[in-house]
Amino acid sequence: MTEPVAGAGTMQVTASNGVTWTRRPSMTSTAEQLLQALSDLTSIYGDPGRQWNWWQEGRRDQEYDLVLQVVSEWDRCGPRRGSAGEKAALRQAERDTVGKDLDEDAHRGLDLVVNGYNEDRERLRLRLLRTQSDIAFFGHVLQTPASSAQHDDAERRLNSSRTAAAGLLDQLGDPEQVIDRHGHLPAERREMNLQSHMQCWRHPTLRGWATTQRRRFNALLAMPMPDPVAMCSECQAPAAWHDYDISLRLFQPPPTPGTQAGQLAQLIPGWWQRCPACTTYRVGHQWGGQYALPDFSYDQWRAMLPPLLRTIFTPSPPRPRPAPRPQPKPLAVIPSGPITEVTKRLEQAETRYPTAHVRPGSADGWEVWPAPQ
Ligand SMILES: [Zn+2]
Repeated sequence: MTEPVAGAGTMQVTASNGVTWTRRPSMTSTAEQLLQALSDLTSIYGDPGRQWNWWQEGRRDQEYDLVLQVVSEWDRCGPRRGSAGEKAALRQAERDTVGKDLDEDAHRGLDLVVNGYNEDRERLRLRLLRTQSDIAFFGHVLQTPASSAQHDDAERRLNSSRTAAAGLLDQLGDPEQVIDRHGHLPAERREMNLQSHMQCWRHPTLRGWATTQRRRFNALLAMPMPDPVAMCSECQAPAAWHDYDISLRLFQPPPTPGTQAGQLAQLIPGWWQRCPACTTYRVGHQWGGQYALPDFSYDQWRAMLPPLLRTIFTPSPPRPRPAPRPQPKPLAVIPSGPITEVTKRLEQAETRYPTAHVRPGSADGWEVWPAPQ
């Protein structure tokens, strides 16, 4: 960035890339606003930090239009006329940028060739992540166990999970170096998952709750943006959600009916939707027997959740509605007919309900009602 230049009634500013901009006559935006707008143009779509709370429909386009409005008040005058050395430096900077991208692509390709995608290593890494989530889960249980039997079982499983995780880590080495079948490292997938979390879940969910579920809306809106390193590399949830058995697998297609996966998905609700890095506790709990912690209940799980997750994912059960008041019914209904028949029925009703009142019925006939109080 350089100092704005005012002269002969015009304002000029040279951006950090050497391009000089001249403000159009009668326009009012300042040099600082232009430089900010130029910076925003490159970050407005790529930086989730800017868009985190732009949940309203069309909000991102509106923000972009505001930036464009500022830029449109200025004319781009091309690179500043500088020395041959400056021009060469600018060209070299552009070549360096392109070269860096190519190097990164080549590096990824090299990773694939040298290391190769290894399905076993990918599976091993997922087992490690699941086991780490289990460790965290049993740790949460141990903070407020429901019974001594539960405490002992959770402690035993916590320790065996720790041993298993250490063994997996020994086998695997650095889990951050395990590429997926597309050649992406976990860190790259976390960046992508944060974008998807925001655009494909956070914003639509906020729009859906804005007018219908205000408490959940306020809680989700107040959720700070996770650091990309805190995201799960396998789904669109922050990794810490998996410690409580909460996944966000937005792009998981349903299992093919009739396959083993399809049958399991029917037998164990939630199994198919669960992220492969998530704790497996719920699956074990649903199978029961030795897999289920003694005395563990939904209420205990709900109480374990941090307030944000509790509000978002387990809204309070609806208050029981008062039972509907019974509709009053007549004591007797006497259909219309011959006078002798109607009279006879009326006399019977009088005998039975001596203080009752007779009114025309809603259908063709008469109704016998209790006397007004
Ligand atoms: Zn996940």
